[in-house]
Amino acid sequence: MPIAPRSHGLWQVTAPPAPALAQLSGALRADVAVVGAGYAGLSAALRLAEAGARVVVLEAAEVGFGGAGRNVGLVNAGLWVMPDVIRAALGEARGEALIGFLGAAPQAVFDLVARHAIACEVAPVGTLHCAVGAAGRAEIEVRAAQWQARGAPVRLLNASEARAMVGGGDFSGALLDLRAGTIQPLAYARGLARAALDAGAQIFASSPVVAAQETPAGWQLATPGGSLEADHLIAATDAYGTGPFAPLRREQVHLPYFNLATAPLPQAMRDTILPGRQGAWDTQSILTSFRMDAAGRLVFGSVGALDRAGGAIHRAYARRMLARLYPQLGAVAFEAGWHGMIGMTADALPRFHRLGRSGVAVAGYNGRGIAPGTVFGALLADLVLGRVREADLPLPPSAVEVARWRLAREAVYAAGSGLAHLVAARF
Ligand SMILES: Cc1cc2nc3c(=O)[nH]c(=O)nc-3n(C[C@H](O)[C@H](O)[C@H](O)COP(=O)(O)OP(=O)(O)OC[C@H]3O[C@@H](n4cnc5c(N)ncnc54)[C@H](O)[C@@H]3O)c2cc1C
Repeated sequence: MPIAPRSHGLWQVTAPPAPALAQLSGALRADVAVVGAGYAGLSAALRLAEAGARVVVLEAAEVGFGGAGRNVGLVNAGLWVMPDVIRAALGEARGEALIGFLGAAPQAVFDLVARHAIACEVAPVGTLHCAVGAAGRAEIEVRAAQWQARGAPVRLLNASEARAMVGGGDFSGALLDLRAGTIQPLAYARGLARAALDAGAQIFASSPVVAAQETPAGWQLATPGGSLEADHLIAATDAYGTGPFAPLRREQVHLPYFNLATAPLPQAMRDTILPGRQGAWDTQSILTSFRMDAAGRLVFGSVGALDRAGGAIHRAYARRMLARLYPQLGAVAFEAGWHGMIGMTADALPRFHRLGRSGVAVAGYNGRGIAPGTVFGALLADLVLGRVREADLPLPPSAVEVARWRLAREAVYAAGSGLAHLVAARF
C-alpha cells in the first residue's frame, strides 16, 4: 500500500521524499521491536537509537501511512477534553501530570524539528479555537480559565479580535493558544524517520507484522518476508493497527475526517486569510478546521469521508463554508482531497497498555496525536530503557477492551456527518 495522492492528498505532493527503505527479509534480532512508523513509533525509535539500543521498526506500508500522513497538521497542546475533566478522570496527581505532559508536548515537537533540521513547514505561531455562537463562546471561556489557572499562555479573543486573526467569519471569539502551531504532517513523519535512521535505528517498510508471540526469549514477530526477535516490543499502530494489533484499533471508534486543499492562492488573497498563519478549528460538534500551507494553499477539513456519495456532499459543504468564511475566495476549486480515520476512545483519553511481560503500547489520541504521539513514543522508549517507571507514567495501565457498539457508532458518525453537511450546504 503506497502513499498516494488519493489517500494522502496534498501532504504526499509537498513532502520531501521518503527515505529509501527495504522490506524485512530473513531473520533479525534487536533489543527493541517497534511496530508502526507514525509519530509514536518513530519518536520511540529515535529515542532508543540515541540511547544506543538496537531498535528495528516494522511498518506495514510506508512511513506516515496512518494518521501521521493524513492529518490536519495542528500541533495542539493537551487533549480536546478539558483539563478539569482529565483531572476528574485520572485523579489529581496523574491528571495534572498528563495535562502538564501534553501541554508541553508541542514545544517538544518544535525542539525535535529544530534539533534534527526537519523540513516540515513548521509554524510555531499558535492555534485558534474559534467559538461558534454563545455556546461556543462559553466553552472557550471555560477552557481558557482552566488553562490559565495552570499558567498556560492562552488568550481569549473577542469577536473582532478573532475576526482579525481569522481574516473572516463571524465567530463569537477565539482561544489563541501560543504553545501550539502547524506542520506539514507527512514531512514531519519522514523527517523523524531520517533522524531515527541517522541515530542508528533500522526501519523496514512494506513489512506488516502478521504474527506476534512472546516467548521466554522475548518477542517473535513475523512479516511475510522475514522475522524479528526482540527483548521488548513497542506497539505504535493506533487507529491503523492490523494483524495482531487489530485489537488496539478495535478499542477505538473511528471517525472519518477529510481535508480539501485549494491551489496556492494569489499573494494578495493569502495576506487576508489567517494572516498570522495560525491553524484554526471551531467549536461545532461536527467541527471544521482550516489552515494555510507554506505555499499559500488553504486546507479545509471536517468530519466525513470523501468516498462514495459522501465525496460530493462534503465538497459542496466545504465550498459553502469557505464562501461564508472567506467570500473573497470566489468559486473555489480544490487541488487535493483526502481523508483518514481518527480513533476515539470512550472517555476521549489515550490508553496505555502492557502487552505480555515486555510489550507496551499507547493508542487512542482522539484526533490529537501529533504532539501526544511524539512525546508518548519517547516516554515508552524511556520506560523500556528503565529511565522511568510504570508508576510514573501519566496514564494508568489498562486492559485492551473492544469499544461498545463500535460498528454501529461508526455508521452513525459517517451518516451523521453526511446528513449534517448535506443540510448545511443547502441553507
Ligand atoms: C484526518 C485526520 C486529521 C487529524 N488531525 C490531527 C491534527 O490536526 N492534530 C493532531 O495532533 N492529530 C490529528 N490527527 C490524529 C493523528 O494523526 C494521529 O493521532 C497520529 O497519527 C497517531 O500517531 P501514531 O504514530 O500513534 O499512529 P499512526 O500515525 O496512525 O501510525 C500507525 C502506523 O502503524 C502501522 N501499522 C499498523 N499495523 C501494523 C502492523 N501489523 N505491522 C506493521 N505496521 C503496522 C500503520 O501502517 C501506520 O503507518 C488526525 C488524524 C486524522 C486521520
